[in-house]
Amino acid sequence: MPKAKETLLEIDLNALDDNYRYLTSKLKPETKVLAVVKAFAYGSDSVVVAKELVELGVDYFSVAYANEGTTLRNAKIETPILVLHPLPVNFEEIVDRCMEPSIYSRKILEEFIAFAEEKKQTNYPIHLKFNTGLNRLGFVEEDISWIAEILSKSQSIKVKSVFSHLAASEDLNLREFTLGQIETFRKISEKLISKLGYKPLLHCANTSGIINYPEAHFDMVRTGIGLYGFGNDKEENKHLKPIGTLKTIISQIHTVQKGESVGYNRGFIAEKITRSATLSIGHADGIPRSYGKGKGWVTINDEKAPILGNVCMDMIMVDVTNINCEEGDEAIIFGPSTTAEELSAAINSISYELITAISQRVKRVVLRK
Ligand SMILES: *Cc1c(COP(=O)(O)O)cnc(C)c1O
Repeated sequence: MPKAKETLLEIDLNALDDNYRYLTSKLKPETKVLAVVKAFAYGSDSVVVAKELVELGVDYFSVAYANEGTTLRNAKIETPILVLHPLPVNFEEIVDRCMEPSIYSRKILEEFIAFAEEKKQTNYPIHLKFNTGLNRLGFVEEDISWIAEILSKSQSIKVKSVFSHLAASEDLNLREFTLGQIETFRKISEKLISKLGYKPLLHCANTSGIINYPEAHFDMVRTGIGLYGFGNDKEENKHLKPIGTLKTIISQIHTVQKGESVGYNRGFIAEKITRSATLSIGHADGIPRSYGKGKGWVTINDEKAPILGNVCMDMIMVDVTNINCEEGDEAIIFGPSTTAEELSAAINSISYELITAISQRVKRVVLRK
């Protein structure tokens, strides 16, 4: 690929295809696939990624908030979209654009039914979310009776799926806990199905659930991070490839004398003559300040260049004292070699946080086959 001339996020659709095929190879042929494309498809480009996944035969999309689904609809994507975290203020947009809400509380259920009735809907698809241990959003087992009663009184909505979310599917030390969540989910869905009199789709596995818990696949799985190239596990990462490569360039190189400093608040003070490269990427692009003072690094001509001093809004300075490089050379923040998982570990964070933080001012470039 050509060298970057400015800050870019390259999105490799071949890698996306391979990741999709790898993850779906773990499923029974009849298991449906929901691709999670919230937060700009984890910091990449939700429209580009979703269009590719449609080609690959994905069954469902999911976004966190309604406006993210509207972006897909505006791009003429017609696949069903589950909105994971709707609020009453979003109902109009959701129904208007044929999106399907997750219903997770009595308030949301009652308000959505009232809304659907007012809009003269029949059998509008909804997804009932149950809390099986994450304690974030969702109903609990004791709610089933009154939920079934409310549902039986209205023709306006129909339960298309019942789902839950695993709290620690990537952590095998918490296997007992996760198996408990899966069992609770199984019990809840059986009870609900017997009250409803029909069988909605059941789903509770995210990427690590797909990998570690075949018993959690049910009718559909929801994969996010795996599609983008991370398996939350060293072995699994070998089968996946990060789809995003974040690159920038060296804008200027300085020779910093002993005793001089670099950056705001004199965050780095040279103990010897230091060659410093200023890169055109900063915290406004998604490199948190916590990567400063040597915690984070970039790769220039295959060498590791640690960040000097504090991360600025639009720039970082890196140590290139021992690197053969010049102004205009490319610097790689993360990609398939230094991965976002490795880099984020330097500040005790996770790949998810680093990749979703890449700001919208960073140009996206799509690499096609
Ligand atoms: C974000 C999200 C997912 C995707 O999880 P990954 O670990 O990225 O695969 C699945 N389900 C729900 C409810 C989510 O919020």
